[in-house]
This record gives sequence, C-alpha cells and structure tokens, in this order.
Amino acid sequence: MQQDYTISAIATAIGEGGIGIVRLSGEKSVEIAEKCFRPAGGHRLSECTPRVAVFGRIYDEEGRFLDEAICIVMRAPHSYTCEDVVELQCHGGPLVLRQVLGLTYRLGAQPAEPGEFTKRAFLNGRLDLSQAQSVMDVIQARTAASLEMAAGNLQGRLSEEIGNLRQEILEIIAHLEASIDFPEDDIEEVALGEAELKVEKIYGQVQDLLGSADRGRILRDGLRTAIIGRPNAGKSSLMNLMLGQERSIVTDVPGTTRDSIEEYVNIGGIPLKLADTAGIREAENLVEQIGVERAYSYAREAELVLAVFDGSQGLTAQDEAIWQLLGQCRGRIIVILNKSDLDGKLGQEDIEKIATEKEVEEIYDIITMSAKAGSGLNELEEAIQRLVFGGKIGWQESAMVSNARQQEILRKALELLEQTRVTLLNGMSEDFVVIDLRSAWEKLGEITGETIGEDIIDEIFSRFCLGK
Ligand code: GDP
Ligand code: ZN
Repeated sequence: MQQDYTISAIATAIGEGGIGIVRLSGEKSVEIAEKCFRPAGGHRLSECTPRVAVFGRIYDEEGRFLDEAICIVMRAPHSYTCEDVVELQCHGGPLVLRQVLGLTYRLGAQPAEPGEFTKRAFLNGRLDLSQAQSVMDVIQARTAASLEMAAGNLQGRLSEEIGNLRQEILEIIAHLEASIDFPEDDIEEVALGEAELKVEKIYGQVQDLLGSADRGRILRDGLRTAIIGRPNAGKSSLMNLMLGQERSIVTDVPGTTRDSIEEYVNIGGIPLKLADTAGIREAENLVEQIGVERAYSYAREAELVLAVFDGSQGLTAQDEAIWQLLGQCRGRIIVILNKSDLDGKLGQEDIEKIATEKEVEEIYDIITMSAKAGSGLNELEEAIQRLVFGGKIGWQESAMVSNARQQEILRKALELLEQTRVTLLNGMSEDFVVIDLRSAWEKLGEITGETIGEDIIDEIFSRFCLGK
C-alpha cells in the first residue's frame, strides 16, 4: 500500500558531515529524483537496478549544478517504508542538503512529518507499534544497556512476548467455547478448571512484564539524579569522576524539555540524568546561593540522591541543613563519605548517630570514597546497579517495557485478567469468562498496535524526530 503523496526529508543529523541524506518515500519518489539527479553513466534513474548505488549529479530546475551524489532506489515493498524509496546521498553540509530538499519539494514531494517514514512502515505492516516505538529508543539510547533493550524490542522481543500471551488467551477462549457446545457438566467443569490455571499463569506473566517497566523507563529516560552537599564537600569532583573514565556520555537531548540541556552519566550501564544545567549549577554552592531553593526542590523530587559529605571534617551546621533536606527527599539516597584519602573524622557511625532509625533504613548505602583519587567508584556503581536492578544483571534476556503507554496498557490488561479471575471464582458461566478474556486480549493488542485508533497512532509518531 502506498500513501497518495510522496514525502521527503533530510534523514541525517543537521550539521556538517561527510555525507548527508535526503530521503524520499512514496509513489512519485523515483519520478521526482529522476528530474533532479542525472546518473554519470547516462542512463535514466528509473532504469537503474534497484538497491544499487548510482553515482551522478544533482541539478535544479534551471539546470544549475548543486552537488555530486550517490543515489539509491529501493522499490516497494523492499524498503524501510515498504514504498518506493529514494536516497540522495549528498555532501553533508546543512546548506546543500536544504537546497536539495527544497528542490524535491518543488518537484512534487511534501515535507515529511516527524516520524512519518516509520509511520508508513507501521501502516504497511513492516513493523508493529512496539517495534516502531523502539526505533526512536535505539536512536536516543544513552548507554549500551539502553541500546540493548531498545534493539531487543526493535527485533520484536516485546512483540513476541505479547503475541504469545494473546495466543494463550485465544486458546483458553477456544476451549471454553468448545465446551459451551458440549454442555455436559463434567466437560464444562474441566474446561473451567483449566481456564483458571491458565489465567493464573498469564496473570503472572503480565505482572512480570509490568515489573520490568520501571527498569525499562530508567534505561530509556535515565534515572533522575541529584548530587547535593555543602560547598567543598566534593560534588564537582564526584561529577567529574563519574563523567571521566570514558564511560560517560554527555549529550544535548532536545527532547520533551526542549529548552534545557540534560547531562547524562553512564554508571554501570545505567544512564543517570543529572538535572538540567540550571539545577546542577545552582547546586554548586548549595547553601550559599540564593537559587538554592530550585536545587532543593529538584533533590526532593529526584529518584536518586547522592549526598556528599566531607569525611575529613566533622559535621558542620551546613551538613545538618543537607541532612534535613534528605529527610524530605522522595528518592533513594546514597550517602557518600568523601575524601577517604585524608584522615577521617566522619565515619559510618557518625551518620548512624545523627540519623533516625527510619532514615538509616531508608538510606540504601553509605559509601566511603575519594572523588579525587577515584577510589570507591566501583562500590558506588554497584550500589546504583543494585538499587535499580536489584542486583540482577540478567535483564538483557527478557523483554522489557520501556514507555508509559505500554505500562498503562499492561496495567489495564492486568485489571481485566483480575476481573476474569473473579468471574471464574464466582462460578459464572463460560460466556462471561469469554467476554472478560476477550477484553484482555484486545487490550494487549494495543501494545503492538493491532487494536488501536488512528488518533493514538498519530500522537505516537508525532513525537518522533524529523526524517525518521
Ligand atoms: P564542591 O564544592 O562540593 O563541588 O567540591 P569540589 O569538588 O569543588 O571540591 C572541593 C575541594 O575538595 C577541591 O579542592 C577538591 O580538590 C577537594 N576534594 C574533592 N574530593 C576530594 C577527595 O576525595 N580527596 C581530597 N583530598 N580532596 C578532595
Ligand atoms: Zn563544585
């Protein structure tokens, strides 16, 4: 199936680069490309072998030379979108790419909406919705572990698991419906008994998937983390230590928070999202600065708080202010006793002395380290991994739910399965059980996009980046 208009967009990142690609998709792709691209060999583009690189030149309508390029034609359905696709691989300058893009518009292409290529791939059945969503996750992955999760979902790991669950539900329905046709009592009872066991099992599987959602979200979006501590405790040094060692990625992600820059640090495969710059900068001199309140409120809402104390000094009044703040934090707290390379004045016992019992229980770990010498970083890494993954490293093998939409669908599916259990327990007839099971089956189909409305599909793809 081809949409009735042809789209065009710059598919590569905007900026200077060796190569930049203008991509067309739709019925008229080849026709449009043929009007501006002349193969060096003298043939017509439409006569060139599909999926073979063709060298040539791009000229505008007035015959003005724009760029040398390599052109690849992919004929439907053997392309990303399953439509006719043409890639014009030009030189990677922003101006030249914009000129070529503008030319394709004038020759009949329409500007592609964000995510429109992938949306077409979805509408043409090349990807299901969970795979389509993971395309963006692959593009935006910030650590190897995030990438692994996204790549697994792109390969259909989650789709497969959802597909299996739905298949199992269908089988229960088929059994129940068969027993309705044979209304002898004993067959009916056997069928209901079996259904009960199977529903129980499916319920557990959905619960497990739902349990992966928090980890999935953290891998995708990063763990919101605040570093707090009085001036000179060693916050900046800790930041630098975490950023260093080449395991860090610092990226500008123009995502949901369009105007702010988020810094990501990769700790043991887990992306820590270190506030926005403003938050971090203000946290620098936490107690001294006027902008402190903002950093405080960030810390209160953060999922992870790294509270840095100068272990070579005793606790000061400023430390006590930090301690009070910790009492208001909602996230998990790791207390860091820094400067372990110097003689210690502050130990674990001191912390336990000033903390209430409840606070001690809620503090996940107390870690002694030296941000300057770099010792203790492994312990910190392990503590964070334990906190996020419960010490389990084997998360790679399982399907993982990575976004709020999928999480919400699973939550509702779980409710529907719970409803089925109640119906079964109350000894209601098969018809009612079948109705409940069908709703759960339909609900789960929303994850892969089999049972979903057009408006939701548009909404999902509008969050994609341009050119994908
Ligand atoms: P911040 O104000 O909390 O950001 O603290 P800084 O990271 O700027 O560090 C304040 C001072 O403490 C600097 O002179 C650092 O070199 C020093 N410092 C930080 N961490 C350590 C450490 O582990 N050992 C020692 N000896 N000095 C440290
Ligand atoms: Zn600092």
